[in-house]
Amino acid sequence: MADNKLDPETEVEIIGSMTDPAAAGPVVQPVRLGRDDTFCFSCHKDVPCWNECCHGADITLTPADILMLCRNLDMRPAEFLAEYTVPAIWDKADLPVAKLKMQGADGKGACHFMTDAGCSVYAFRPATCRYYPLGFASVKMKGAEEKDDFHFLVKEAHCKGHGETKTQTVGEYRAEQGIDAYDEVNRGWMDIMMKMASWQTLGGPWGEQITQAKKRMFFMVYTDVDAFRRFVFETRFLDTYEIEPEAQDLLRESDEALLALGFDWLKNVFFNEPTVSMKENVLQGAIAKAREEMGAS
Ligand code: SF4
Ligand code: SF4
Repeated sequence: MADNKLDPETEVEIIGSMTDPAAAGPVVQPVRLGRDDTFCFSCHKDVPCWNECCHGADITLTPADILMLCRNLDMRPAEFLAEYTVPAIWDKADLPVAKLKMQGADGKGACHFMTDAGCSVYAFRPATCRYYPLGFASVKMKGAEEKDDFHFLVKEAHCKGHGETKTQTVGEYRAEQGIDAYDEVNRGWMDIMMKMASWQTLGGPWGEQITQAKKRMFFMVYTDVDAFRRFVFETRFLDTYEIEPEAQDLLRESDEALLALGFDWLKNVFFNEPTVSMKENVLQGAIAKAREEMGAS
């Protein structure tokens, strides 16, 4: 188990309970789990709580979730978002997110994908459904250069899977649930969520609030690859940033490559990270303009 002696500066839960904490008051075990740590849990059709967690579930969709659900339901993102999601704000970072819509006027009914036989989208279910009953968090320790990721166990009273005898390591559970492939696509998105959350006490990066327009860009990039592809190919984006012709070809074909570019671009826009390069003439123009505005030309 991780034994980091440094004090935590920021600890951000990225994937947590499936249950709305306000509704169910889940018990999150304050136990950090590494990949080799074990826990006891099993979910199968014979548990008395079968499908209970798929009612009134609180599921923030990740970029990989939307990509995989759209692909397998044969829907475009705009259509999927309108039919199966509700917009929400992720309070920890004040960023817009899409949540999976539940049935019922109060949103406490069953998930639209739940059937008596189980989850009808099981092979491409969202990351939160895969992780459960594990949570995933990032922590940045005071004095540490890098953030550290860890898992924790979510133990909720209604979930009887914890009473089963199957023991597995976190790594084994992740492999069984196919989590790594989702995390790979979601990495840039999770980095941005974590960074925004850690700037939250100052009101935003270096104390400056992120504009609503930038927040809308974040939502567009992560939820709608069609809209972001149009933004890249039908605006001045390619006149502004250095993107090699081969990379442009890949961006036309690959949603995953497009998302990776989107998160690199957002890191540059939000945090000034050198994750994308401006074309030299654009950069020189921007420098000249900034000088002019400072009266130093
Ligand atoms: S997507 Fe599947 S596993 Fe997830 S809440 Fe809906 S029915 Fe349950
Ligand atoms: S054991 Fe837990 S995860 Fe499985 S159906 Fe019951 S509540 Fe859901």
